[in-house]
Amino acid sequence: MNIPEMFASNVFNWQVMQDKLPKDIFRSLRKTIEEGRPLDNSLANIVANAMKDWAVEKGATHYTHWFQPMTGVTAEKHDSFITPTKDGKVIMDFSGKELVRGEPDASSFPSGGMRATFEARGYTAWDPTSFAFVKDGTLFIPTAFCSYSGEVLDKKTPLLKSMNALNKQALRILRLFGNTTAKAVLPTVGAEQEYFLIDRSMYYARKDLRFAGRTLFGARPPKGQELEDHYFGAIKIRVSEFMRDLDEELWKLGILAKTKHNEAAPAQHELAPIFTTTNVASDQNQMMMHIMKRVAHKHNLYCLLHEKPFAGINGSGKHNNWSMTTDTGVNLLDPGSTPAENGQFMLFFMAVIKAVDEYQDLLRLSVASAGNDHRLGGYEAPPAIVSVFIGEELEEIVEALEADKKPAGRGKKIMKLGVDTLPELPKDTTDRNRTSPFAFTGNKFEFRMLGSTFSIAGPNIMINTIVADTLREFADILENAPDFNAALHRLVVDTIKKHKRIIFNGNNYCKEWTAEAEKRGLLNLKNTAEALPYFTAPKNIELFRRMGVFTEREAASRQEIMQENYCKVVNIECLTMLDMAKKDIYPAVAAYITDLCACVREKRAVFGTISVRSECELIEKLSAANESMYDKANEIEKLLAEAKTCSDVAVCSVFFAEKVIPAMNELRAFADEMELVTAKKYWPFPTYGDILFSV
Ligand code: ADP
Ligand code: MG
Repeated sequence: MNIPEMFASNVFNWQVMQDKLPKDIFRSLRKTIEEGRPLDNSLANIVANAMKDWAVEKGATHYTHWFQPMTGVTAEKHDSFITPTKDGKVIMDFSGKELVRGEPDASSFPSGGMRATFEARGYTAWDPTSFAFVKDGTLFIPTAFCSYSGEVLDKKTPLLKSMNALNKQALRILRLFGNTTAKAVLPTVGAEQEYFLIDRSMYYARKDLRFAGRTLFGARPPKGQELEDHYFGAIKIRVSEFMRDLDEELWKLGILAKTKHNEAAPAQHELAPIFTTTNVASDQNQMMMHIMKRVAHKHNLYCLLHEKPFAGINGSGKHNNWSMTTDTGVNLLDPGSTPAENGQFMLFFMAVIKAVDEYQDLLRLSVASAGNDHRLGGYEAPPAIVSVFIGEELEEIVEALEADKKPAGRGKKIMKLGVDTLPELPKDTTDRNRTSPFAFTGNKFEFRMLGSTFSIAGPNIMINTIVADTLREFADILENAPDFNAALHRLVVDTIKKHKRIIFNGNNYCKEWTAEAEKRGLLNLKNTAEALPYFTAPKNIELFRRMGVFTEREAASRQEIMQENYCKVVNIECLTMLDMAKKDIYPAVAAYITDLCACVREKRAVFGTISVRSECELIEKLSAANESMYDKANEIEKLLAEAKTCSDVAVCSVFFAEKVIPAMNELRAFADEMELVTAKKYWPFPTYGDILFSV
């Protein structure tokens, strides 16, 4: 297998465009795309035709405008290329208009009250910065999705807007440092993806996995992750075959799949691609999750992407590695070695710190979901409190700058930013704290609070926007300063003084941190219902408006969609739980009790006075627990009826978080207790032991 040849073989990238398009057309297309201008009609027609010919060669019969509505997953509607001719035949045709713009009937996508159904039509517009590709006989065209009144209905458009905002403000800073060559600054992202692989039969045997994507019942198995033997452990043959297939599929689509390994929990694994521009990384992560599921199917496996498929063992997250790079290839979060580079690095670095401190709420809510609530703060993932890890060396530098003294044991004198070089930062020592939600790892920040199913668009919209706005503030100050280096130094020191409370290098999992964070005045938004209302806090609306990312209406609609989604997810989980409790678990336990009673009767009939103590104990225990579960199920039914009467979705989400979820946990506890003492052949679905060690 020739991997370089296979790589991106199904992608309509620059190389293919150069091969397939006349020279002048290619040049003007490239220029138009790089300058972010709309394509004119004649150019679009030529490109569309070349794209279609190439796609047909690859076996495509259809095309689709592939977009990312607010459902969090992607959407596609396939149209064939066929066009009838006068003689009753067809030709394969694809026009520039069809390439550039589509009109899916969009009435069934969530819009958060923004769009009444009578004005249902939205349109999709090609995002030429993300390449088209062929998959399963269809040409996929990555697009953005808007309503006709121009309101944004997807996750991609605001992501692109946030990238623009960052580009604009970061360039202002670069100019201040005398950089006149960079034409653009792009945020880059590498998203490490965690997932579980189980045997497909296990998936189909459990309603909770099928309807909710996670187990709603399940007692602890005899073996969990306590031996720590799975993390980086040898990969089993079936998993390894899956991974090889997956890599190949991803490579064909131009996705830079790089690292794969076993994760902490049994049956848990990770895949990390090499980083790329944020919107491409976001498209590719969506595709990666989709391909994972498909390849798993081929291997008779099921890929679980839920944040917490199993209680009691680690859930799955997604680490969002983020940095900023110039079009000339300079990573702006790389400290560099000259005084100017150091000064510039410290400014960008402090911009991120300040942004994270001022907008903890936005980062927190960007990772809020019913699924992720089970992870954050669960001593396996960072807590719900946002803080930044910067490592010992940087902390020393930051402290020295703040106190205006020389860094301990390093430089010989007091540093002046922009004039002196910083003490060397050893790269590999920065990434040892795995508990921090937002960690500086040498030349990038790693945002570790994302859940595994998330579209990375949401969190990256926030990161780009808050950093852009902070850079704007910095540029405003520095552009008007008479002495640049002095002003730079002062600005960095002031920023340290004001925002150092967000820096925490200790263990974020320990209880003391929660108390300490509270003392520092950091936010601790424990669940989704608590976090989401911050989306429309006045300071945040103002930020989105300033940076041109969301209008007030768009922000409100997004908040509502996320709240609605939360309520719907918990509601589905509840209904699934009631179904399993009443139709599966209750009758199974009752059957076991009946047989135990028969056993008591038979034993007595045959032996008279023989001991039936264990049977009787079990009968009593199971009978009591089954009854408690039954009562709890009825109680939950009443709660669900009450939830329907909530005045609005925000109130409803709080009701689910505070009333319904605790009741679900209680119901589950009764069932799990019964599972541990019910004979195997009665239990109505596979246990944790069966599922986790099924591959
Ligand atoms: P780990 O976090 O497991 O130690 P690495 O640090 O090697 O792994 O990288 C994790 C991810 O960070 C990879 O996807 C990698 O491509 C990405 N990454 C590396 N440099 C950058 C950067 N400048 N911008 C964004 N992502 C980056
Ligand atoms: Mg990592």
